Amino acid sequence: MTSEQKDLEVCISNYRAVFDYFLTPLSLLEFMPTLRDEARKEIQYFHDQPRKQVDIFLKELLECEERGIYQSFLDALNRSEDQRWIHDFMTGKLNDELTVKFIYHIENAEAFKKLFDIIQPQLNVIDARTLITVLRPWLSEGEKDDLNEKCNRLGSTYALPWIIYFILRKKPTWIKELYNHAEEANYSNEVEGTLAKALAQYFIFDENEKNVAEEKTQSSELPSTSAAYFDLHSGVNTKVNEAETSSSNELHTKLHHVENSSHDDPDDKDNETLVNSEQNIDTEKVDDGDTCTEIKEPCDPYQSYELRGYQHELVKLARQGKNVIICAPPGAGKTLVAANIIQNYYETSCRDDETKRNVLFFTPGIALAQQQHDRFKEYLPSKYMTDYRCGYGESTSLLGVKDFDVVVLTPQILLNELNSKDEHKSVYKIDEFGLLIYDECHHCIGSHPFNKVMRKYFGLEKDSDQLPQIIGLTATLGIGKAKTKDAALLEMKQLCANLNAVAGVVTVCDSQNKKEMEKHIANPDENHLPVNMKRDDPFFKEIITLMRNIEQVLKNLKEPIPQAPDYSQNDFDRQRFKQWCVETKKSLALTESPLSRNARSCVEYLEVCGEALDLYYVCRAEAALKLFESVAESQKQDTSTEISLYKYHTDAMNKLKKLCNDPRCANPNLAKIKNCILEKFAEVPDSRIMLMTQMKIYVYALKDWMNDDDKLEAYQPEVFTGLRTSAGVKGLSIKKQQAIMKSFRSGRHKILISTPHAAGEGIDVADCNLVINYNFLRNESLTLQIKGRVRKRGGEMVHISSDRVARRDQLNVHRTQLMNECTDILVDFIQSDQMAYRKELEGLNKLDMRRFHLEVLKKLKESQELEKVKQSNEEFLLQCAKCKGFVCSSHDLRLVENAHRINIMPEFKEKYEIMEHPRKDKRQMGQDWKKINKVICKNCNLDWGIEALYKGVFVLPLIKIEGFRITKKSTGSPFVTRKWKNAPFVPQDINLDVVLNQLCDDE
Ligand SMILES: [Zn+2]
Repeated sequence: MTSEQKDLEVCISNYRAVFDYFLTPLSLLEFMPTLRDEARKEIQYFHDQPRKQVDIFLKELLECEERGIYQSFLDALNRSEDQRWIHDFMTGKLNDELTVKFIYHIENAEAFKKLFDIIQPQLNVIDARTLITVLRPWLSEGEKDDLNEKCNRLGSTYALPWIIYFILRKKPTWIKELYNHAEEANYSNEVEGTLAKALAQYFIFDENEKNVAEEKTQSSELPSTSAAYFDLHSGVNTKVNEAETSSSNELHTKLHHVENSSHDDPDDKDNETLVNSEQNIDTEKVDDGDTCTEIKEPCDPYQSYELRGYQHELVKLARQGKNVIICAPPGAGKTLVAANIIQNYYETSCRDDETKRNVLFFTPGIALAQQQHDRFKEYLPSKYMTDYRCGYGESTSLLGVKDFDVVVLTPQILLNELNSKDEHKSVYKIDEFGLLIYDECHHCIGSHPFNKVMRKYFGLEKDSDQLPQIIGLTATLGIGKAKTKDAALLEMKQLCANLNAVAGVVTVCDSQNKKEMEKHIANPDENHLPVNMKRDDPFFKEIITLMRNIEQVLKNLKEPIPQAPDYSQNDFDRQRFKQWCVETKKSLALTESPLSRNARSCVEYLEVCGEALDLYYVCRAEAALKLFESVAESQKQDTSTEISLYKYHTDAMNKLKKLCNDPRCANPNLAKIKNCILEKFAEVPDSRIMLMTQMKIYVYALKDWMNDDDKLEAYQPEVFTGLRTSAGVKGLSIKKQQAIMKSFRSGRHKILISTPHAAGEGIDVADCNLVINYNFLRNESLTLQIKGRVRKRGGEMVHISSDRVARRDQLNVHRTQLMNECTDILVDFIQSDQMAYRKELEGLNKLDMRRFHLEVLKKLKESQELEKVKQSNEEFLLQCAKCKGFVCSSHDLRLVENAHRINIMPEFKEKYEIMEHPRKDKRQMGQDWKKINKVICKNCNLDWGIEALYKGVFVLPLIKIEGFRITKKSTGSPFVTRKWKNAPFVPQDINLDVVLNQLCDDE
């Protein structure tokens, strides 16, 4: 090998990441006339796959033995207008500031990829040709031609992703340039302005000193967000300096860290074919036990994290390659423990590049995935490439997953990939990875995606030479519904079996370590304040009177309806009342009685009263009144019954309005909450306080309450909920969740009002010094999780709950004790009798697999039945569930993307009216859909579904089955259901994109 080839090789390995993300070989070809024609053709052939082009191009450079090829490559880069920056970067000619930025980009290439996600939605409304014009300054002539051609051939919508794809390979300064340009032009060009603003929202260009300082203090800052993107942490800076003076360019080699271990000891490889759980014991010995100081490497910018004594105890078995569940309380540092295990895994058992298998880290939720990914970036030396993959349904791919050392992901993504029929998928079998870590592993039971992944693992047991090592991390082993010790133990063992934790459960046992751990984990003070649920004030009485009146109307209709549960009792049981409403509406939809519409109206009014009553108990009069008002607008007054119901409703509403500010109607519980909060702020002015309550609807009502209170409003209360919509209240998107959490940390919002599941598990709401648990039921896992949120020293937890909740809560306290006891028993058992334990695991494993097979059989049967239904294509008639008016035939419906049912008959439009969606929510339903309006029955105003905009092109009515009564045409027998999957027919599939293309052609 000549020295030139060597240089070239070093160069390629050093700058591989730059090339992968930014090199565009096509435009270099004209400056490199000596390249082989075959290579040229091949590169041209893959003009749509830049990454592939790069592979071919670099391979060609390495294999071609031509003298001067390295120089010729550098010259070509230098001559190519749009890639000169890469040349300058490699030769150190780029000014410091830019160099630093680019290094940051490359280190965060995945962050850069995110740009794609950011821009794309903005482009739905943009015409591709206009966009090409806007981006003209940064695109080469050839690219412009290519893109214009794509516009002509594919149409605007399909050309857009290509434009993004191309622009993402440009010198990253284009964002700033575009922004400046748009600003100078005063946003006169609409497309340019929209795009520039969208980008500016995410990428702050003004390197405001204060901002930078702020970002630096936040260790868990996301690399992908705003300031962090263009601002840089000091670590990279120092590294650049070192890199410039070092010939081997240490900075870039870290991108390919494995090579420094590949020449170490290839013989080790053979030992690795041992049984998974036994592997690496030898290497561990060589490693001289726990040498965590070795994590620190001299010129790494990352901060070295030393394990604490008790953490050493936690990692020990895992570092020996054994399958274990690591169980430690929240705040004990399980993620750091995981990082240590991962690093040890790469250093001891994964020395060979050829056989290297990467690490997957599973989290149960999307938000947690991003957060844990950030932690790994912080905890692992930067030579380890990390990435995270998460998203909705099948929209997220595992493409390129093996380019990273640690990938944090939600299990469903892997399952989708494994189940995919794509011949060129990224993952075929689970043993392509060497180490699987499950965060919050207590979920690994039943049909949770965690367990589905594990079932794939067990499915490989006989075929695989080397199953991956499995580690579970949790604060609680979980005892399901168990009430006795035996049952609880069984639940725990089942979890161990599901995770194949043959080496058992690791907890901190050493007494000294225990003491140390106690010091580090949060142990908040807990206080209980009884809630006052006695309400016999005028507001309460007014609602009760209204409900009695409605009930009387209902009775007069003489429909056979069971008595409503007693709503006048203190401590109103919302759940039971709701259930009654649902069941009554169902039976009214099925009856042929002509008065059923009126009866249903009564139930609907009652339902609102029930909800208002509940809101009144938990929140305050204003919230209840708001609900009353919103409903009055949507009710028809076509029959005499409806007219009188409406009158009762509005009369009551007017009386209630006057009572809102009556001190007799103030909620004493809110006063308690306010007291707790103000006391805490008086004691610690920079406190962070979280108020947790059961439902989203309360969360918003409580926010309104705080905002109406001068003292509380000063702390800028904000809501924090999970993703899902419940009871008509929208969840928050991940982006929103993260933004809120960020401003909570920074102190912009000092109070968060949250639902337990949003905050209890997942997103790290570190450093709360007061958590108020307002009247919701806890389960033992959640209790521990929530305690973990009160991490700040001296943190405090206050429970404000009604008798009913407190009683059930007490039961949960017992269950927590039971769980702790059983964990100790289990650990002892595993230590004392390994054989018996393993045997039990095997049995439980078989049990789980049997359950699984039964499930599969059930599914098969279901799908067969479904297929039968599909085949038969029997006709059903849909009537409005309230007024029973005929709406359409099941043959008029089509199934889109296996998810939405649309009515394709033009006449359908005549039968419904539209209403603005009550909560103006711009959130999209996935990539392609956007909610526009509510669809309601023209006759009776019953909610039938929504109108949604598809790909910004056409509006379609998406109907929900709950609004209809279904009758079999042949027999006339009626049927109602709340879920589409239970419907007795399956509409034909329709591919909207085909329709869309046809429309484009017609143009
Ligand atoms: Zn109707």
